[in-house]
Amino acid sequence: MSEDKAWWHRVLTIADIGVYAVDDVLRLDAAELAEMKKGLGFNAEHLSCSDVYGGDKGVFYFKTKIAERVPRDFLGEYLPEAKKRGIRTLIYYNVHWLQPEFAKKHQDWLQVDAGGHIIDNLYGSGCAPCVNSPWRDWSFQGIRDLAAYGIDGIFLDGPIFAPAGCYCQACRGLFQDRYGTDLPAKQDWGDPTWRNFIEFRYDTIAEYLRDAARALKDVRPDCVIYMNCTGLWPAWPAARSNRRLMAHQDILGAEGGFLYYDLRTSPLWKPGMAAKLLETQSSGKPTVVFIAGANKGWDEYLLPPTETKLLYADTIANGASPWYGIPLHCAKSPGALAAGEMNHFIMRNADYLEGTVPLAKVALFWSDRTADYYRATVPVTDFTPQGERLEKREAAGNFYTGFLGCYEAMTRSHIPFRILDEEALTPKALRAFDLLVAPNCACLSKSKARTIASYVRRGGNLVASFETSRYDENGIRLEDFSLSEVLGVGAGKGTFGPLKLDYMSVIDPGSAATQGLSSALLPCPTYGMETIPMGGAPLAMYREKMPARYVNLPPVSNKPAIVLNEYGSGSCLYLAGNFFEHYHGYHNPDYRKIISNWTRAVAKMLVSVGNCPSSVEIVLRGQPPKARLLVHLVNFTGEMTRPMESVVAVRDLKLTLHFEGLERAKALCIGKELDLQQTEDGPTLSIPRLEEYEVVALEPFDARAV
Ligand SMILES: [Zn+2]
Repeated sequence: MSEDKAWWHRVLTIADIGVYAVDDVLRLDAAELAEMKKGLGFNAEHLSCSDVYGGDKGVFYFKTKIAERVPRDFLGEYLPEAKKRGIRTLIYYNVHWLQPEFAKKHQDWLQVDAGGHIIDNLYGSGCAPCVNSPWRDWSFQGIRDLAAYGIDGIFLDGPIFAPAGCYCQACRGLFQDRYGTDLPAKQDWGDPTWRNFIEFRYDTIAEYLRDAARALKDVRPDCVIYMNCTGLWPAWPAARSNRRLMAHQDILGAEGGFLYYDLRTSPLWKPGMAAKLLETQSSGKPTVVFIAGANKGWDEYLLPPTETKLLYADTIANGASPWYGIPLHCAKSPGALAAGEMNHFIMRNADYLEGTVPLAKVALFWSDRTADYYRATVPVTDFTPQGERLEKREAAGNFYTGFLGCYEAMTRSHIPFRILDEEALTPKALRAFDLLVAPNCACLSKSKARTIASYVRRGGNLVASFETSRYDENGIRLEDFSLSEVLGVGAGKGTFGPLKLDYMSVIDPGSAATQGLSSALLPCPTYGMETIPMGGAPLAMYREKMPARYVNLPPVSNKPAIVLNEYGSGSCLYLAGNFFEHYHGYHNPDYRKIISNWTRAVAKMLVSVGNCPSSVEIVLRGQPPKARLLVHLVNFTGEMTRPMESVVAVRDLKLTLHFEGLERAKALCIGKELDLQQTEDGPTLSIPRLEEYEVVALEPFDARAV
């Protein structure tokens, strides 16, 4: 990366070592704190400047008109110490949580639910200020007062809407002005007024960020601002639409590295999932994945070093910078020291991590519209502690779990891929990909359906499953799939199931997708989709329903389970069931094989691996100006449970490169040049030992040649 790039475009290692309570801040030594952060390899930070425990209460550690009390101007004392040590200081500014006692004094600031009750249970206790209320001006005054200091930027924690908000007077008035109606009486996704309300919530959060950025930059134009945004989960509960927010912020960050309670329920590659989505949605601006050092919700107890290193590795492998947050008293814990080790690795190897671009011939479609308007579990996050209770419960099909299953099947098959959302799904962008995967992307606008159809007609390939394109972008069910011609089937009566004991039969075991399966008789996905034949060739058929266990197999039905359709110059593999949701739950190896087979049949692979467990994630990134390809290997091979106390090292992992002209290979973690062997398949190299992470830099590499 050229030296003249702004500092926030360089790789960042951001500390958030929280000190909030007045007694603790009074005892702090500014120089010691800055020195400790520098020692751990941080080059930037979020510095808290208020007593935010239990929510904001008007106690600040900088001079501001909005303070009820300033026990110490810690910011003024600290900034020169950070600057001396080359640490960029962004202020952590809480804009979503007020302490109840403080909130009581400002009733007109608070979010209320449809019943008119003040929402007072954030994190179990605390009120949420509303961005449309007079609180807005109070919070902007705090920003202007921060801008009087020599800070480098502001990070906004929030703003959010609570899932039940907001029905305050300000929101009622503003909604009436914009839509000419009252707010919807209740949550009803079929009601256009409810859908307007969802849009209104997104829009007004974005308008708050726009005005907050103005408040800062009017005083200090060289400062950056960004807020806590949405990772890879439905955006509607907290009402933060990354796409709408990007116009007003300099960085895109989300809590992709926060792990809660039983870690076995979190995807191993959770930070990478967020990083991939953020990269797509950031409009070319830098991305940050927030990593909590703690095993949440035990906020004062850290994850083991192995989990910490993996969170870091998956973040930087996927092109994002890490933010690492812990309480101050944990700064000498083994987990924090592991973060320090990773920070120093990043600093030493910044040349290989900055200015990279993703390289993948496969795109996975994360449909924001489906996440919001169909059915999708909402995972537990700091802003949605209700977690799965927010799921819109209906019979079949959960977009979120299906997406996780698809992501896992691709990752375990060592297939490098990117994530695209609706806005990224353009004819031009799709030309770069051999394959688009749409796992139950149910809600699709006409124009996006046309884009996908034209991509396939011109030689692209598609995997689609279950109810993909069965609904419009507002979640209204259509008569037929809007992609029926591409899928090679029409929509029949609907979904069927649950199929708990049932089977399907592979009727064409020689196809590119189905060859080499362990059995022609496979368990069914939990729900199937009735279809009408339209020319696609069935590869597998559902069998009739099993009446019970331990009975003769019922005959093959007339319902296709897997259909391969040629469309124009391209093709589509349609899975007529919630296959990916099923894979998420049961990890059927033949399901994965079908996806891996077909992907390899239609998409060019730059790199293949040997002697490599499915629990090693492979990410390819390029640095075109340096003619360099980077192969990131993140080893999630643990000891059969989580949190992982260590990984099982992989020995003699083989990489085969399917492109010409390679001269040099260097492994950055072990710090060694690797020997290249010429084989029939292409140049091959061996990595003697992979612990948590390795990056292999390959030169020269011409991205245009692939
Ligand atoms: Zn409101």
